Amino acid sequence: MAKYIFVTGGVTSSLGKGIISASLAKLLQARGLKVTIQKFDPYINVDPGTLNPYEHGECYVTEDGAETDLDLGHYERFLNIFTSQANNVTTGRIYQTVINKEREGAYLGKTVQVIPHITDEIKRRMLLLGKDGYDIVITELGGTVGDIESLPFIEAVRQLQWELPDEDCLVVHLTLVPYLKAAKELKTKPTQHSVKLLSQEGVNPDIIVCRTERPLSPELRRKIALFCNVKPDAVIEAADAPTIYEVPLTMMREKLDQICLKKLDIKTFNEPELGKWKEFLDKLKYPKNKINIGLIGKYIELQDAYKSILEAFVHAGAVNECSVNVVNIHSEFISAENVEEKLSTLDGLLVAPGFGLRGIEGKILAVKYARENNLPFFGICLGMQMSVIEFARNVLNLKNAHSTEMDVNTPNPVIDLMEEQKKITAKGGTMRLGAYPCELKEGSIAQQVYQKSQISERHRHRWEFNNAYLDAFEEHGMIASGKNPESGLVEIVELKNHPYFVGVQYHPELKSTVESPHPLFVSFIKAAKEFNETKNSKKKPLLQGEMM
Ligand code: GLN
Repeated sequence: MAKYIFVTGGVTSSLGKGIISASLAKLLQARGLKVTIQKFDPYINVDPGTLNPYEHGECYVTEDGAETDLDLGHYERFLNIFTSQANNVTTGRIYQTVINKEREGAYLGKTVQVIPHITDEIKRRMLLLGKDGYDIVITELGGTVGDIESLPFIEAVRQLQWELPDEDCLVVHLTLVPYLKAAKELKTKPTQHSVKLLSQEGVNPDIIVCRTERPLSPELRRKIALFCNVKPDAVIEAADAPTIYEVPLTMMREKLDQICLKKLDIKTFNEPELGKWKEFLDKLKYPKNKINIGLIGKYIELQDAYKSILEAFVHAGAVNECSVNVVNIHSEFISAENVEEKLSTLDGLLVAPGFGLRGIEGKILAVKYARENNLPFFGICLGMQMSVIEFARNVLNLKNAHSTEMDVNTPNPVIDLMEEQKKITAKGGTMRLGAYPCELKEGSIAQQVYQKSQISERHRHRWEFNNAYLDAFEEHGMIASGKNPESGLVEIVELKNHPYFVGVQYHPELKSTVESPHPLFVSFIKAAKEFNETKNSKKKPLLQGEMM
């Protein structure tokens, strides 16, 4: 029988509910329990697949092809497990199910209402993963307590608290304890208010986790406990951490896991086994080198848009014991005149995934620079497609070569819409999504990096390398080193005469975790480190007394 932990948020958004949930899950997993996490989002979209990154940050794709919230990325990175469609549920999906059932006549003439029909469907989904043999299912509720749209989710938790045995369910409430500079004091009133709001909705939290910039004194903890109906040891301090990967350890020091185990009456567990995690943290904290990686994209000002890529750099940097300084470069502002100036200090270049025309020519210029200057290059999805277009235009001399995504009338459609995509008109959930197998070419960089001949990676795209051009590309030195074994679709391209130039049609960043950093990121960072070392060794050594 699974036990359930619900995580709600109060006062403001962006407090890091996803990280707290993932950290708690990590600690419980480290104690030998089987744990998973799911996220319930209150918006009406059926999934975030149709949302602009400005609205919602990165869209995270699971093995089974679900387009989900980026918090699922944190869950996988922390827990080193796969999540699935069942781990992310939105109000839209709940309503869609209920309305479909109503159309089928499943409610037998009854009036279909928020309570009980919507809340029943929410509860059914909240308990669903509990049937898969987990000891603990953590459910993160998106949004902030008090939002109109999150009311049915809170109501479902209220009902479940009555339906489940007392020791099978608990609620953790994450709030903010702000520091007022003028008063030189931490303030507990916003926390009191948000807990009051939650109680008015029928849910009394068992544990209060307080995000704070300053340490909570015992006196303050007592005050929060008194006003919020919990014991003082159930008031947890979540101080700002230098990296999200530190949070499981700070939560362990605060005994968050122990309090949960006690309340859930779990008696069989081990001492936390976090050896690998701590080893990773040590490497992360004490790097031996530093390299600059250019991240070329069009949502550069919005860090959440490239979340998994940035985290994969952190994992791969730790393996290489070097700190990866990501230089964000907006593709719209790269021109033939400034490309050298913008890229010459880099040790590696990653061209990011994306959609649509904006910033495309800047990406192509950046690829050209990397190809011609032996700068380690890593292209992901749209980034790989740009490397193909650049090669077609500048090496194969195919005039105006393009992707039909950007130019439907291009005379040389080196990237074209996949056959199965041509009939599709609906946007939601219709891309080539989820895990597909890929066969690697003997002797290629890809094969050396993966140390395997068959791999599986996750996709999210509609366009593809046009195989009509493959021979011409291979003759001139850009080879297809990975292909789908059934369809022959090109999944990886690489350059023969370049130290490290790899473009992948899939999203390797989605499978990089703390305990299994992605081999392509690890090898890219290694290549960048080598580029940096050669660059530095070429620099004239300074004579004694000479100034830089
Ligand atoms: N827009 C491109 C396609 O759909 C690339 C997508 C991506 O980068 N995820 O094929």
